[in-house]
Amino acid sequence: MNYDVTIIGGGVIGCAIARELARYRLGVILLEKECEVGFGTSKSNSGIIHAGHHSATDTLKGRLEWAGNQKWDSLCAALGFGFERIGELTVAFTPEERATLERLLTSGRAKGVSGLEIWEPARLRREEPNLSHDIIAALHAPTAGVVNPYEACFTLIESARANGVHVAVDYRVEVLSRGEDGWTVKGTGPDVASRFVVNAAGIFADKVAAMAGVGTFRIHPRKGEEYLLDKRLRGFVKRIIFPLPTATSKGILVIPTFDGTLMVGPTAHETEDRSDITTTLPGSDEVFESVRRVVPGISERDCIAEFAGLRAAAEGEDFIIGPTAAKGFINVAGIQSPGLTAAPAIAEMVAEILADEGMDMVARDDFVPAVPPHVRFATLPLDEQVRLAGDDPRYGRIVCRCEHISERETVDAIHRGAHTLDGIKFRTRAGMGRCQGGFCSWRCMELLARERGVPITEITKRGGGSWVIRRREDGEKP
Ligand SMILES: Cc1cc2nc3c(=O)[nH]c(=O)nc-3n(C[C@H](O)[C@H](O)[C@H](O)COP(=O)(O)OP(=O)(O)OC[C@H]3O[C@@H](n4cnc5c(N)ncnc54)[C@H](O)[C@@H]3O)c2cc1C
Repeated sequence: MNYDVTIIGGGVIGCAIARELARYRLGVILLEKECEVGFGTSKSNSGIIHAGHHSATDTLKGRLEWAGNQKWDSLCAALGFGFERIGELTVAFTPEERATLERLLTSGRAKGVSGLEIWEPARLRREEPNLSHDIIAALHAPTAGVVNPYEACFTLIESARANGVHVAVDYRVEVLSRGEDGWTVKGTGPDVASRFVVNAAGIFADKVAAMAGVGTFRIHPRKGEEYLLDKRLRGFVKRIIFPLPTATSKGILVIPTFDGTLMVGPTAHETEDRSDITTTLPGSDEVFESVRRVVPGISERDCIAEFAGLRAAAEGEDFIIGPTAAKGFINVAGIQSPGLTAAPAIAEMVAEILADEGMDMVARDDFVPAVPPHVRFATLPLDEQVRLAGDDPRYGRIVCRCEHISERETVDAIHRGAHTLDGIKFRTRAGMGRCQGGFCSWRCMELLARERGVPITEITKRGGGSWVIRRREDGEKP
């Protein structure tokens, strides 16, 4: 298989790059080791489109955070994933902390971040009555938003595919070799040849760079635990609430997610284990103690689900984006927070790098930016729901009772690429509610088996060996 560009890694960065390159007359393939795109760090984060003022202006992170922030409205308009600018508040408890807010305000304004202002206690009480009354001021940033990050990945890749990008999942890249004409990529699928290789392998980007002979940096993963709260708390806090940032983290936050669930977290602890996505009791204690100081009414008793993600931190703490000593091998590494925010700007930067490195970037005149809109049945007015169910009875059959997800939406998700329980969950929200899949998992499995024409024993939670049921052996007792 011969291509112009091979992208290694199908997180939000690889998917955004794939869609950006789909604008040009190029042969592009994306290789992802998991069974679906977006199953790495890109689905295990806080889902915040950061306001733009967090990272220092003299860093790549700082520049790309604000540039990326401004691209999410048009991306959402084309792709239809969940995204809303709900704004954020960084809170101060002491006069010293208030002075830090003033510094953040000044540096944010210098960067061009719009709408920043300090709110005094009276305004805070009016706008966010459930915040601690010990808070003496807050920096309001209306440019911050929340996004469903997995939906962003799925729709970015759907758009890239529709515009000619090839995608190979369950493809782990194991060997890279350079010949006269470019690179040969070998792994758990057919060999791939391409002129350029873009390394967007997240927490494994250092390993992939080493395969290309340019292992000049090391990723030291930093784990973040997050806790999702029951929808009973919907509206308890309307904006994303930040404490003051530390040197390595933006702190433990309260996040009203796009779908209305409150989320609290993340922690920030170094780990050597790149497979460690466990949550822990000390992590939970740290999160809830920290959050209660800011929003006293939040309790661990409201927690319905928890997860952890690994930030791909590199030495120096900045993004590493650019060509390397290995001709045609481009790193997009060290993409820790605010990598999600910056993703669309990173994708444009990679296209510019490819042009600088000699790739002939001819724009396609038949690029289709939008994907077909998704129906979100639960959010529609009743008369519209009745009309849809009249047209297609599958809208009238509810698969997930907690989130009100219909059979038709589930089937659509399968036809758009979901082939695991998590693939359905992250596309539709079936299984994300209070019962965490207790009711709908079996129904989703039946639909997966039916629509894919495979035995139900083949259905997995998230690919690999994550089977949910197995066939009873002959003679085995129930
Ligand atoms: C707890 C937490 C909270 C965060 N919150 C935010 C936030 O609110 N806002 C924000 O802007 N950022 C946030 N971030 C950062 C953000 O999630 C990341 O910057 C972003 O998801 C990185 O995307 P990626 O594509 O580089 O990595 P990934 O999503 O990890 O993608 C890399 C992909 O490469 C694949 N891969 C690796 N090795 C190989 C190989 N050999 N062959 C084939 N494929 C391979 C992996 O399977 C993976 O899918 C947070 C991060 C964490 C951990």
